[in-house]
Amino acid sequence: MFAGETDFLKGVVKMDGLPPAERIEVCFAGRSNVGKSSLINALTGRKALARASNTPGRTQEINYFTVGEDHFLVDLPGYGYANAPVAVVEKWQRLLKQYLSGRQTLRRAFVLIDSRHGVKKVDEEIMKLLDTSAVTFQCVLTKEDKIKEKDREPMLRQVRAALSRHPAAFPEIISTSSEKGWGIGTLRAVI
Ligand code: GDP
Repeated sequence: MFAGETDFLKGVVKMDGLPPAERIEVCFAGRSNVGKSSLINALTGRKALARASNTPGRTQEINYFTVGEDHFLVDLPGYGYANAPVAVVEKWQRLLKQYLSGRQTLRRAFVLIDSRHGVKKVDEEIMKLLDTSAVTFQCVLTKEDKIKEKDREPMLRQVRAALSRHPAAFPEIISTSSEKGWGIGTLRAVI
């Protein structure tokens, strides 16, 4: 997928704003601050490509990137903001539900999990939504450089247990650190 150039295409706030479903796409989901922008930047080899999603006001948008001639990479809005107003949360949940259940060209979702925190309740909610939308998803652990060796195995057990509860989950977990470049090649190959 990463054979060609990656460019920001547009931010989408409504279903009718989605680009025509003419390319195969994968999407990235994760709690805010999980390291999603850093990972997308590391994957595409471009600094600050995904910065738009971190700008307040753009956080509720589905950000579309073109990759080469044939693919889209989709950056879903970060979830789990502590102070987000209920109306805002409901609006993006609605958009997310419509997107996940209605996008024919979506091949796989990557759910990012901060390796220091493991799977939280909001992550489980997204996983449930992916189950009901029949979108296969794969878990990507982020910030692996920050986890202590002794905490690693218990965290992996917790993540594996969580994934086992979700029929749409792909069992293989991908460990990454955008900072160190760990696992980026593996993830690129999977995509
Ligand atoms: P987003 O909100 O999910 O897009 O998260 P960002 O990519 O903006 O990252 C949130 C914070 O985590 C930033 O301060 C990043 O520098 C930091 N971060 C992201 N990835 C890594 C990583 O692999 N290792 C470390 N140590 N920090 C990271």
